[in-house]
Amino acid sequence: MLQQTQVATVVPYYERFLNAFPDVSALAAAPVDRVLELWSGLGYYRRAHHLHAAAEVIVRQYDGNFPRDARTIATLPGIGRSTAAAIAAFAFGERAAILDGNVKRVLARHHGIDGFPGAPRVEARLWEIAESLLPERGIGTYTQALMDLGATLCTRTASRCGDCPVATDCVARLDGRVADLPAPRPARTRPSRAVRVLVLEHAGTILLEKRPAAGIWAGLWSLPEVDLDADVARHCKARFLANVIAGEKLHPIEHGFTHYKLTIHPQRVAVRWWPLRAEAPGLLWLTRDDALAAALPAPIRRLLVKLW
Ligand code: SF4
Repeated sequence: MLQQTQVATVVPYYERFLNAFPDVSALAAAPVDRVLELWSGLGYYRRAHHLHAAAEVIVRQYDGNFPRDARTIATLPGIGRSTAAAIAAFAFGERAAILDGNVKRVLARHHGIDGFPGAPRVEARLWEIAESLLPERGIGTYTQALMDLGATLCTRTASRCGDCPVATDCVARLDGRVADLPAPRPARTRPSRAVRVLVLEHAGTILLEKRPAAGIWAGLWSLPEVDLDADVARHCKARFLANVIAGEKLHPIEHGFTHYKLTIHPQRVAVRWWPLRAEAPGLLWLTRDDALAAALPAPIRRLLVKLW
């Protein structure tokens, strides 16, 4: 929960989450929708999916007991090598090396390692160094100290080398290259995509659609999507058998994913006639309060708050 999110924001989420799922069995037994609901607003929903999937694996394969060694922990959904090592070191005292973003920076500077730390060859070298430095005893204290060094002294900008306990043999400091290491990520251009989302309104309710279980915003509730140049009225006729009038085009919203940029073009749609039939699976007409209580992608939530 804390990744990319401030502690003050997370605390109420954490408390609600633990109240609903006091242990790993409760989490594993819950429907993923309930987990997403309690995560809604934190973003990065893949983490919630992973947490739930990991709980299921722990219950199914390990009788509900959290595995105790880094190698096994790293096989759980959503837990990478460094996180697994941190858990094993802090919780079970295993001599396992961590290598998160902060630690990569400290080691790259201290050992004078060139190249972008995310590049496979550079990362492999940093893992070697991280493992070679592990102390025989006090792994928890050592790991915490390494993380704190990266978070407080050896920061990305404005490093405090004068206060640093490992300054005397730090290659970057001795060579005057602290500002140059580690090398930045090579520039890359992210592709962009654009999509139209339909704000279908009918008798004080709005239509939400559940997104597929895989892909972006997996399993969340969102607005129905169409191609940017689609004829909205014709699309609604063909897809929902509904009679609608395409309305105002709203201000586009930019949203960045890791691999591409998405421009969302919302458009209001007035429903003149909607077929009377049981709600199709994956579609829901919701009031404002119910819609905002659902697990929504962050930009769609912001849009609905602004509109209503
Ligand atoms: S001396 Fe400076 S650059 Fe080197 S590890 Fe310490 S804070 Fe980082």
